[in-house]
Amino acid sequence: MYRIGLGYDIHKLTTGRELIIGGVKITHEKGLLGHSDADVLIHAIIDAMLGALALADIGTLFPDTDKKFKDIDSTVLLEKVYRKISEKGWQIGNIDSNIIAQEPKMMPYIPKMKKVLCKILEIQPEELSIKAKTNENLDAVGEKLAIEAHAVVMLKR
Ligand code: ZN
Repeated sequence: MYRIGLGYDIHKLTTGRELIIGGVKITHEKGLLGHSDADVLIHAIIDAMLGALALADIGTLFPDTDKKFKDIDSTVLLEKVYRKISEKGWQIGNIDSNIIAQEPKMMPYIPKMKKVLCKILEIQPEELSIKAKTNENLDAVGEKLAIEAHAVVMLKR
């Protein structure tokens, strides 16, 4: 039995916020704006996991009107969603993802992101792909106004 899910997220870059992607703090003069820590990659992965089981999406599950999710570490949300999925008897088959950022360079941080996410999701590094791209200077992401992420997740049991 297999299920596949697709996730997408985008957050605006702003000053006075830390940049956290894939559970890793990235050195940059700007961070992502959001109710939680605005971890765009984790949010895309969560939505893909929820989508695979046709469950309510991340915004419904963790509403930005709820104070308890204010500035919350998104790895905590990922753990909650993974628990929900494993309780239903599902495991992660594999994940493929893209982080799209004009700057800063994501490459140096990807091994650490993989380590953080694999531990939470109980998968091996070869089951998690994190790719980094620029947007060739096009649109909001290319103009360094935002960072976006896409993910597909395959669940198995
Ligand atoms: Zn988000």
